[in-house]
Amino acid sequence: MSRIEEILEKAIFTKDDLLYLLNSADKERLSLFEKAKEVKAAFVGKKVYFRGLIEYSNYCKKNCYYCGIRAGNSRYIRYRMTDVEVLEAVDYAYKNDYASIVIQSGEQTNKAFIARIESLLKRIHGQTNGKIHVTLSLGEQSEATYRRWFEAGAHRYLLRIEVSNPSLYLKLHPNNLSHDYNHRLEALRTLRKTGYQVGTGVMIGLPFQTLSDLADDLLFFREFDIDMAGMGPYIEHADTPLYQYRNELLPLKSRFDLSLKMVAILRIMMKNINIAATTAMQTIDPHGREKALMVGANVIMPNLTPVKYRQDYLLYENKPCLDEEAEECKSCLEARIHMAGDTIGYGEWGDSRHYLERPP
Ligand code: SAH
Ligand code: SF4
Repeated sequence: MSRIEEILEKAIFTKDDLLYLLNSADKERLSLFEKAKEVKAAFVGKKVYFRGLIEYSNYCKKNCYYCGIRAGNSRYIRYRMTDVEVLEAVDYAYKNDYASIVIQSGEQTNKAFIARIESLLKRIHGQTNGKIHVTLSLGEQSEATYRRWFEAGAHRYLLRIEVSNPSLYLKLHPNNLSHDYNHRLEALRTLRKTGYQVGTGVMIGLPFQTLSDLADDLLFFREFDIDMAGMGPYIEHADTPLYQYRNELLPLKSRFDLSLKMVAILRIMMKNINIAATTAMQTIDPHGREKALMVGANVIMPNLTPVKYRQDYLLYENKPCLDEEAEECKSCLEARIHMAGDTIGYGEWGDSRHYLERPP
């Protein structure tokens, strides 16, 4: 048996195995992708679930060094969607059988924000007879806030660890309490304790990041026993401090390829979790999300944010679909997903099987 076959047959990968897989090329790389495809078909099926993405607001109190909408960037007009706009986007998702939405935003922790999200959650459930599942991606919040939103009907939460190496984390964020690695980790634990399906993830191809860091990220996901993952390439943004390292980055194509490998390896490691084919993958390659679906991803987040706000929610540059209304996005996506050989789980919540099958 060749080394790659031997690794792919293993029940549990070691760090050395992970490094071998991340370094794989040519035929070995294709074997990795083929195995991930098989695991996906066997454990979660060849079905893709839609999560209508609502980029609720670009107000953010934080200053992550990689992100375009960081508080320190004064170039964007700051916006907050109105309740009517959010409910219209939800209505679109409902009528088109998406069954699930994600509300994402810059991080805000003031009382008015917390209360508005709570009230929106209640209105969303009222408007759709509880038929729409809501995922939140609103950053680090207190335990009381996470509980309040859970009780108002949110059952999934995405909070990327961004990088699981604390010293790398420190290089990518200001050194203060609101950007503290341990606080973020604690927030993930609190989400789990509150009862959410917990999703996390990392950026791939960041300055200073090594393959060893990425292997550790995969081990972190397994150790934390996550239910969902969202990973994608890091894409530089001119109005951010990390832009000064742009010449030291891997080429975009390599970042993309590493992202595909991360998705494929994670699918093999954690067979029944949900894995998103992220927008950042599409930013590098127009067929990036479909390629991710072919190597193990099973969730896509079509953008439902009103077009007039999209120019102002640029976490990174060259984000795709800035001028496409939801309807155009939908028909182009359907065709692409069928091309990738999958079907769409219309009307299905598509909860993480890992979460549903977790022993009590
Ligand atoms: N404020 C929330 C949610 C919005 S940011 C939070 O931080 O959790 C959502 C994700 O965008 C972040 O988790 C980060 O991984 C990603 N992101 C930010 N800047 C990016 C960049 N330059 N390239 C790729 N992804 C980026
Ligand atoms: Fe704000 Fe999230 Fe961007 Fe950090 S990554 S600056 S918390 S929107």
